[in-house]
Amino acid sequence: MTRLSECYLADESMTEYAGARIALSLPANGAVIYLEGDLGAGKTTLSRGLIRALGHQGAVKSPTYTLVEPYEDFEFPLYHFDLYRLSHPEEVEFLGVHDYFKPPAVCLIEWPGRGKGFLPSADIHFFLADEGDGRRLSWQAGTVKGAEIAHNLNKLLVFQGSNDSQESVQ
Ligand code: ADP
Ligand code: MG
Repeated sequence: MTRLSECYLADESMTEYAGARIALSLPANGAVIYLEGDLGAGKTTLSRGLIRALGHQGAVKSPTYTLVEPYEDFEFPLYHFDLYRLSHPEEVEFLGVHDYFKPPAVCLIEWPGRGKGFLPSADIHFFLADEGDGRRLSWQAGTVKGAEIAHNLNKLLVFQGSNDSQESVQ
């Protein structure tokens, strides 16, 4: 499961759009999604697009201080984690989140490295990085389920551009 795909996101709205496309790619039985990239890379923006596409109407705040924000008004529950402020990985245990990691829940986890050893492994990883005025988004499946998500996503994200490094989302 090493297939890696990527696209260029020219502005914030494209990051939200990519998140919405990921929402459409999710299986019915939940997924663990790692969101990686530096501070300000766009992880929360991507999450906002995904969560809104699932039907959430209100604000999508960054769970910087609460560490996890539950969204339980969808067909399936979604838990948005931001583990940046976790001091030790084992603190994940104190969040009382074990039920969160069970299907059909979808877990979106920013800064998963901070909880290393105490989190389920990722079905799919998304990586965000600065590139020019925009962002480069890439993803890699970690499980068969993640490969299905990537497969669905590849059909939904249509690329344009004249060379491999400049494709952007239409
Ligand atoms: P993170 O959660 O990774 O720390 P945020 O999602 O909070 O990052 O985003 C940080 C900033 O990046 C926001 O100001 C947002 O508007 C901006 N941003 C998001 N996506 C893009 C993009 N594709 N191009 C340019 N700026 C972007
Ligand atoms: Mg964030």
